[in-house]
Amino acid sequence: MRVVLVDPSRTAAKFVSRLLEARNHEVRTFADGREALEYIKSDPDVGALITSAEPLSMSGLELCWETRLIATSQRPIYVILMSSTKEDDKLIEALDHGADDFLGKPPIAEELYARLRAAERFSTMQHELIRLATTDSLTGMYNRRAFFENAQQLCVRAETGYAMSAIMVDIDHFKDVNDLHGHDVGDDAICAVAHELMIGRAVVGRLGGEEFALLLDRSLAETTEVAERLRAQIAALKIGTGALSLTCSFGVSQWLAGDTIDRLLKRADMALYEAKIGGRNRVVIADNSMLTPSYSDASSRIRGARKSA
Ligand code: GH3
Ligand code: MG
Ligand code: MG
Repeated sequence: MRVVLVDPSRTAAKFVSRLLEARNHEVRTFADGREALEYIKSDPDVGALITSAEPLSMSGLELCWETRLIATSQRPIYVILMSSTKEDDKLIEALDHGADDFLGKPPIAEELYARLRAAERFSTMQHELIRLATTDSLTGMYNRRAFFENAQQLCVRAETGYAMSAIMVDIDHFKDVNDLHGHDVGDDAICAVAHELMIGRAVVGRLGGEEFALLLDRSLAETTEVAERLRAQIAALKIGTGALSLTCSFGVSQWLAGDTIDRLLKRADMALYEAKIGGRNRVVIADNSMLTPSYSDASSRIRGARKSA
């Protein structure tokens, strides 16, 4: 585990650092609290902070608190305050300031290791929870929520002028697949399609039953080529024992200045609808004029039509 160790005393820091390194922990040592904090911000692999109560430039309790603010559900950091006073008040104060644990100073080697084992258990559990919360259990790709979370970064980038395009994908006549081959084969088909769609450099998510979305940092022309290639690959798939093949329809849209992820995907979704009514198993590029003030009304009309089709 990568551990940030903060102690103004070089001797004390060296003592703890040696103990940690003896158990293959990677240690980054700081005397100054602010410097340690900057480092923790910059290195996403820091799994634990062990700080004395009095680093330079800020108190250990403050450092615990500030680190707790950096640690998010996506980035767990186990925070341990190390202090020579083992009074109950200090322990309570530490926990109230965001510390996960408290360690006497100088630490007893076996106690230190046991605390870090607890840190590792905590971190493993947190990562597993994050995985469960963000992954679609059938296909292993991002679920709807994680897709939109990851889309945010690409949208910010797109707004600064970088290319970004979206593809919406829907399996054609999928009800028939379930009806003719059973739900389990239907699941296999969804997985097979998902596998084809999980291409590098794209943010890919399963947005609904047999609907997927891809975001690419590419131009509309390049993205359309990608969609066409995916369409052909999926049409050529032999699913299960080979008796089943299927097709998908695709809608492609590009980011326009001032866009939102919802509008980008809605345009792709409307193009996908065009692909469906155009005969399915095809790629349709969204019309940018779909982004007019009356666009929302038109969109809901089309969605209504799509449901009743
Ligand atoms: P279209 O070409 O117009 O898209 O036709 P469709 O039959 O695919 O239409 P629709 O989107 O209405 O049907 C989707 C079906 O997908 C309905 C639902 O039972 C099925 N489905 C949704 N989620 C799953 C899943 O996880 N597994 C399986 N096997 N089927 C699912
Ligand atoms: Mg469908
Ligand atoms: Mg559908």
